[in-house]
Amino acid sequence: MSASPATVIAVAALTGGVGLASALAASVFIALPEAARRLLVPRLVSFATGTLLGAALLGFLPEAIEAAGPGRSHALGAVVLGGLLLFFVLEKLVLWRHSHDDAYAEAPGGDGHRHAVGPMILWGDGLHNVVDGVVIAAAYLSHPGFGVATALAVFTHELPQEIGDIGILLHSGMGRLRALGLNLLVSVAAVLGGVAAAWALGTALAVLPYALAFAAASLLYVAVADLIPGLHRHAGLGRAVEQLVLILMGVAVIWLTQHPAGGAGGA
Ligand SMILES: [Zn+2]
Repeated sequence: MSASPATVIAVAALTGGVGLASALAASVFIALPEAARRLLVPRLVSFATGTLLGAALLGFLPEAIEAAGPGRSHALGAVVLGGLLLFFVLEKLVLWRHSHDDAYAEAPGGDGHRHAVGPMILWGDGLHNVVDGVVIAAAYLSHPGFGVATALAVFTHELPQEIGDIGILLHSGMGRLRALGLNLLVSVAAVLGGVAAAWALGTALAVLPYALAFAAASLLYVAVADLIPGLHRHAGLGRAVEQLVLILMGVAVIWLTQHPAGGAGGA
């Protein structure tokens, strides 16, 4: 069995579309007044946390277990564990920057990281986006509707991240057009991972359950290790309730996208 060209083209369109859409949306957001961004970006991060947790735990993990069969559940757990540790090590190597919230944290003194990083973030994000492409491809090969739900989860966490990145690049003295252009280029790097994974997984479908488990680890890591610590920097009961509501909304949107009303249940 080999990957069908239609599948590879669909994955290329999905990953390219997400990259393009998030980069364009981030370019619009960055033109908003600072006060509006400070209001919106932390809410986007809460919502993205929900979409990532929903996709990882209601989508990828059960899909992986169903595809591999119950006899493989321990191996799948080991892949999730290995994936989490891999992302931990990558972040240690500063190849992995997903500190969306740094630039717009409401806590005082959240400005520490903005000056030093500069274009280094682009390499880390490029690599991250390649992995996002792999994640979308694995979901799409599992079934197309799940691919679309996953593309949505990728869009929602990429948007605040790219707004933060463009802000950092501008802050480091880069011109506006160059910052927006480089961010766009890095965003569409997802196509590389998507096309390579669609081809490889289409050729070796036996690997798909493990790719799904790895994807679960990637989304879990971004949600729990990168986004949630930023949410804790916003103090107050009202804020906590609002964050929880937005997280649940993110979960619900992924659930509804993956299980459209009137569609076939169960899967
Ligand atoms: Zn991402």
